[in-house]
Amino acid sequence: MDLNKNLQYIKGIGPKKYKKLNKLGIYTLKDLIYYFPRQYEDRSKFKKVFNLVNEEKVSIRGIITGFEKHEPKKKMIINKIQVRDDTGYIKLVFFNQKYIVNNFKVGDNIVAYGKVKKEYGKTELLNCEIEFDTKSASSIGKIVPIYPLTYGISNKELINIIQSVLKNQDLKIDEYIPMDIVNKNKLCDLNFAIKNIHNPQNIQNLKVALYRLVYEEFLILQLGLLYLKSGVVDKEGIKFDKKDGLKEIIESLPFSLTNAQRRSLDDILNDMNSNKVMNRLVQGDVGSGKTVVALLSLANAVLNSYQAAMMAPTEILAEQHFNSLQEILSKFDINIGLLVGSLTKKQKMAVLKKVKEGEIDILIGTHALIEDGVEFKKLGMVITDEQHRFGVRQRNKLSEKGDNPDILVMTATPIPRTLALILYGDLDISIIDELPPGRQIIDTFAIAKEKRLRAYNFVRSQIELGRQVYIVCPLVEESEVIKAKAAVDLLEELETEHFSDLRLELLHGKMKASNKDEIMKKFKNGEVDILVSTTVIEVGVNVPNATLMIIENAERFGLAQLHQLRGRVGRGEHKSYCILIYGSKNEVTFERMKTMEQTTDGFKISEKDLEIRGPGEFFGTRQHGLPELKIANIFKHMKILKEAQMEAQCIIQEDEKLNLDKNKMLKEEIINRFEEKLNDITLN
Ligand code: ADP
Ligand code: MG
Repeated sequence: MDLNKNLQYIKGIGPKKYKKLNKLGIYTLKDLIYYFPRQYEDRSKFKKVFNLVNEEKVSIRGIITGFEKHEPKKKMIINKIQVRDDTGYIKLVFFNQKYIVNNFKVGDNIVAYGKVKKEYGKTELLNCEIEFDTKSASSIGKIVPIYPLTYGISNKELINIIQSVLKNQDLKIDEYIPMDIVNKNKLCDLNFAIKNIHNPQNIQNLKVALYRLVYEEFLILQLGLLYLKSGVVDKEGIKFDKKDGLKEIIESLPFSLTNAQRRSLDDILNDMNSNKVMNRLVQGDVGSGKTVVALLSLANAVLNSYQAAMMAPTEILAEQHFNSLQEILSKFDINIGLLVGSLTKKQKMAVLKKVKEGEIDILIGTHALIEDGVEFKKLGMVITDEQHRFGVRQRNKLSEKGDNPDILVMTATPIPRTLALILYGDLDISIIDELPPGRQIIDTFAIAKEKRLRAYNFVRSQIELGRQVYIVCPLVEESEVIKAKAAVDLLEELETEHFSDLRLELLHGKMKASNKDEIMKKFKNGEVDILVSTTVIEVGVNVPNATLMIIENAERFGLAQLHQLRGRVGRGEHKSYCILIYGSKNEVTFERMKTMEQTTDGFKISEKDLEIRGPGEFFGTRQHGLPELKIANIFKHMKILKEAQMEAQCIIQEDEKLNLDKNKMLKEEIINRFEEKLNDITLN
């Protein structure tokens, strides 16, 4: 059976079930068998009624002796099924599940699983599941997988679907890892692994299956990255000289570079100087000064008579880069251009013409840069800022505008180095791990929302000192439209109830770009006291006079995101503050808020974030352009990761392009899983 077959065509899966499965991201047979449980419940051991212990979760086996029905309240029905085994009596209790009893009658042999409640000499089983006592009982008397679910589909339903597919005789899952690798690493074969991950015969089998699947996932990830690297990094590129003119530019800066900036710049200049294409990631915490490193790299390309381009995720940011570059580089006769969506057609045509004729040396812009009409005369280097906002495809699209230009990506998402190596395995990495001198620690306070007025009093005191304030709206998931509405509502409340005498403005993603720019400009010029905003200001915005960041419903944000937002203040000479207002009071919230109060180190924060949220969310996102890890966990399975990493290196050493016959299926699988990322790269 073809694993890519759409589930619609599988017997037993009607349109209704199919729709439900779609909600879980399951469309094909392969999606289904690779939809792994998130945990297991060991229901394999049966106990006799006589031996049951209060509060334990347990499987029992018995025969039905009677039924009871209670209606203690309106709209509440409690059904009880009386059961006995050869040691005693027990009642199975079902709340508001009136149909469940219809399936059974006195004398039926059943198995049940639930939580024991012993009281006044009576024994009951709560939160029960019940099935007929047959060999094929699907969720009792065995190790039962618990799947991640969404509304509308139950665990049992999913178990039944998966089991019926796995039992299908036609289902043959071909091994695609070469046999020598399978044997060398003592992996079980794929068939066994898939069957036992969904329906483990015992704990040992489960372990063996898990090991195999985790190993496979890491192996593919690492191989894919090495494969990408071999394809891209070693491409012939431009050899740029280190021009003396660059020294002059560095000397003209209003500050001297930090050691970390210098080191990163050296890495970059060395890469540029080599005749291979540069593929480098500059990672640096918020405010560590990545922009100036980018500026100098771009300038070096221009001094070598090439053009350069930098892409930013938002217009606000693009414009800001444009301004700071112009301020410094125009003295050196370097022409900077700006290309953003909000330009008029005429303005745009003018810019495009200048870019094509080589009159513009450095082009800054948003996604507009990768549109088809943008042509360069001689593009030698491209930078994407805040890489996490762009897919790999967009990065590649930009670089295709030149003839193997050098590529630099910058990100402020601090992740521990080992993880960075895994995530960005196809890139070389420089880290700016030092903030410019004189930066003040941003004092952070977390307060419950009942105390919001205090925060507002503090807003006032900052504004009286001549400072400016950001207030970030609660994070709403739904859509830009709903976010915008939340922002509008908050602005209105603030304007009418608290700050009617102050100058407030609004910034959200649904506004026209030209409006956004106008408001940002006003804020920069000090014509706005309070900027009420959604997370559009999250990345890069630089207004040194803003000293207070207030974040509403802070518990809804990821720590890394809070850190980014907080990084909007503390950018100038004035003491700065961040107030986190939280709405829910639970352990996790308190822990997260405490972390934010206690540290301003982005790397520590992201580690904590990973610890609290788990890496699933962190790495599950497609933002990185990497295949999703469905079962492997970078922290929990670090050891397997290392083994797979070593094996991947061996494989690539022997067969760099994976063209050997034995690696054929492996290669297909890699291409499959890396689909998005590989799309733009020629495979040969
Ligand atoms: P990020 O790394 O978050 O992109 P930016 O490049 O926006 O940070 O820099 C933040 C601020 O620090 C800017 O105002 C910039 O001018 C300033 N800055 C950068 N490097 C230095 C330095 N070496 N010394 C002093 N200030 C610096
Ligand atoms: Mg930046």
